[in-house]
Amino acid sequence: MKFHKSLAVVLAAATATSAMANKLDPNNPSGTVVDRFADIEVLRYVVPGFNTLSPKQKKLIYFLTEAALSGRDILWDQNGKYNLPVRQLCESIYTNYKGDRNDKDFKAFETYLKQIEFGNGLYHHYSTDKFTPGFSRSWFDSQVKALEKAGSLPVDATSLPVLSKAIFDPAFMPKRVNQAAGEDLIKTSACNFYENISQPEVEAFYAARKDTTDLTPISYGLNSRLVKRPDGTIEEEVYKVGGYYDKAIRRIVDNLEKAKPFAESPEQAAVIEELIKFYRTGDLKVFDEYSILWTEDTDSPVDFINGFIESYGDPLGMTGSWESIVNYRDEKASSRTKTLAANAQWFENNSPVDPRFRKPQVKGVSAKVIDAAILAGDAYPSTPIGINLPNANWIRAAHGSKSVTIENITRAYDDASHGNGFNEEFVIDEPTRKLLDKYLFITDNLHTDLHECLGHGSGRLLPGVDPDALKAHGSTLEETRADLFALYYLADPKMIELGLLDSPDAYQAEYYKYMLNGLMTQLMRIEPGKDVEEAHMRNRKLIAEWVLEKGRPDNVVEIVEINGKHFVKINDYRKLRDLFGQLLHEIQRIKSEGDYEAGANLVETYAVKVDPKLHKEILDRYATLDIAPYKGFVNPVYTAVDAQGQPTTDPDKITDVKITYEEDFIPQMLRYSRDYSPLTK
Ligand code: ZN
Repeated sequence: MKFHKSLAVVLAAATATSAMANKLDPNNPSGTVVDRFADIEVLRYVVPGFNTLSPKQKKLIYFLTEAALSGRDILWDQNGKYNLPVRQLCESIYTNYKGDRNDKDFKAFETYLKQIEFGNGLYHHYSTDKFTPGFSRSWFDSQVKALEKAGSLPVDATSLPVLSKAIFDPAFMPKRVNQAAGEDLIKTSACNFYENISQPEVEAFYAARKDTTDLTPISYGLNSRLVKRPDGTIEEEVYKVGGYYDKAIRRIVDNLEKAKPFAESPEQAAVIEELIKFYRTGDLKVFDEYSILWTEDTDSPVDFINGFIESYGDPLGMTGSWESIVNYRDEKASSRTKTLAANAQWFENNSPVDPRFRKPQVKGVSAKVIDAAILAGDAYPSTPIGINLPNANWIRAAHGSKSVTIENITRAYDDASHGNGFNEEFVIDEPTRKLLDKYLFITDNLHTDLHECLGHGSGRLLPGVDPDALKAHGSTLEETRADLFALYYLADPKMIELGLLDSPDAYQAEYYKYMLNGLMTQLMRIEPGKDVEEAHMRNRKLIAEWVLEKGRPDNVVEIVEINGKHFVKINDYRKLRDLFGQLLHEIQRIKSEGDYEAGANLVETYAVKVDPKLHKEILDRYATLDIAPYKGFVNPVYTAVDAQGQPTTDPDKITDVKITYEEDFIPQMLRYSRDYSPLTK
């Protein structure tokens, strides 16, 4: 499972146009806007502390990043069978183009190229709809002719008609992943996991293999594609050395072999060894063995995933899209969650709920915080902010799982949001904006830590209460409970005592943002006329609307109108905290007693209905900001050098690895296509 950005952070980071890039600190490129096109913004992230790692750790990371980049073409091909040749063709046109680069058609072509580079193919990474070219067919044809004439056509000339069709015909393979009920999801999805085969045939194929009595079931189809031959036989083409994607996988394995001597422990060396064995055999039992070793290795500071992991790209959810993330533990941030977990019982004993509902023995979860060193495959350029693996339920039950948040990525989003126009539009005044600039990043992270490490694990049900008693409202109320636990404790002196915050006022930043989001700005995600449906959004609205109403006699929070625009105004932060505590008291009672009526009543009263006038105002104000709904990243560049400082890739000669942050989006893509493209050569 990947966790995508919390709405709160998305909103805070929602803006930043290319004009803003100049405002950022040149010594700290985190959050710098590298490129902006269509609905996309590309940012830089930094890898903090890379230069303080040991030479051995740097070498380990270096070869793991090489292994990560080596799989790029696999994902491109998985995302659609024409993606790689179209990329070759478009990149050749782009680099060989001799005309005016400000020409209308060229500009539109450049945008298209950026879109396919970002989508790892012809389809939008999120909607999975095919991109629409803004340049003319005749312009494109003339560019292809020019390439042919110069003898630099990178693809087979006989494939040109179908590649043009793939680019220009909107009805031809229009969607990468089709989920529409009632259609053959295989035949109507352009992803390249199946060939000449129908959905019922695929389902029958796997149904015949599955042993439903197996308590340790393997993940059928995770690393293969299914093809029906002209004679009707169905064949499983396995991704492995000597199998499908042989050249790319060989190169991944080669780099894993080079990384292995630099492993930090025998346990980690065993993880790498088992992954190599999996790539060599394609045996999914070996993949499970690897997953178990990986899950149980919690000590190694450097860690990585590399393989066919998440199956969102397959309409049937079977085959894994290739991805890799190399990372290492952020010791400072991880100590935050360790501190919380070590004090879990204190938090439980002091929570504002009825003592009958407290847990006598509570165990906090010590979540790991990491910094990414490279993003690759399906995790690039768009990337999750957290990972929770492995996916196999039986392994999770028997061996646990690793849950990590990627701090340097959330940091980059936050850095991009400073001085970007969003706060100027929606935050009531300058002192409050200053407060957010100063404390929102740390308090937002701490809120997440409290929510995940302590909130969900706190409290207990009375004997005999059905854990599912709250039914359809269960997840909204559970998120409400965890959020309130975090909000309540964020303002507690214990935060300062434990060294987690350095100012007694810091919590106010999160309080303001939480109320603004819950009462107003999260509505920008809702279409006009619709209700709030998603559980996290309902939870935030429930909390914000409830404290707004209950605090009215004391004027704790209000919505004020200034020059025709509405703003959230918080008049008494201490009383706001008391209200959060009171609501937590009630939500815990509802959960512990299984009081469905009271829970449903709270949700229906506070969490669902949208004020259409306020909603329209927010959408209008939001539209005036030049906002890219989707963001992604360029990677830093790693260069291994020898004792003389000369670049080398020889493991025996490398003495250091340099990191730089200057590369732009298209240059990075062109370099990857040149240096890491085993499937097109
Ligand atoms: Zn939660």
